[in-house]
Amino acid sequence: MSKGWEKFFYIFTWACQGSSYLSPRAYAVLHRMHHAYSDTPKDPHSPHHTENIFTMMWRTRNIYNDVFHYQEVPEERFSKGIPDWATFDRVASSYLTRLGWGLFYVIFYVLCISVFDFWGTHWSMYFLLPIHFLMGPVHGAIVNWSGHKYGYANFDNNDKSKNSLLLDFLMMGELFQNNHHKLPKRANFAVKWFEFDPTYPVVKVLHYCRIIRLKPGA
Ligand SMILES: [Zn+2]
Repeated sequence: MSKGWEKFFYIFTWACQGSSYLSPRAYAVLHRMHHAYSDTPKDPHSPHHTENIFTMMWRTRNIYNDVFHYQEVPEERFSKGIPDWATFDRVASSYLTRLGWGLFYVIFYVLCISVFDFWGTHWSMYFLLPIHFLMGPVHGAIVNWSGHKYGYANFDNNDKSKNSLLLDFLMMGELFQNNHHKLPKRANFAVKWFEFDPTYPVVKVLHYCRIIRLKPGA
């Protein structure tokens, strides 16, 4: 995508992830590391090299922070050609900004549930607030843990990546980890006739609108 669209998606990512915003630059570095070191001790998030889902996420958090704060200089193959908007990242990742989003969610819930009672919204919806605060880590924990632990494999990738079909509709195709590790440059994560990657049509629309350009064969 062009540099202009890159900036747009930085801001759009921030608007969607809000309180648990992840820097696209640091995310890209970690994702490339994950592919290079899949399920080895150097993998930033393998369920096979940590005791439980929480220690895995803590390890990922530490590596992410090192990369985010430029304390760890990634190898060139991990950092080449990725977007970088340091000023925006700094503001979007600050505690003040994250707290601001958290407060915004709380106010929104209170207005919908207790003040205006939109569509008879039940008070138990308040229990969704912690998930809302931590959308990024919750999503990461499900994908990184399940996608390398539960499900079936179409390919032997010399790792433990799996396709977790039953959970996948919630993760918009990201749980076809086994397919994705075999064919990392393919935009469509679904391979078999019974698999469907809901993000692929979105990618296609972005391609037809010339917002992104898919490489031939992707
Ligand atoms: Zn993976």
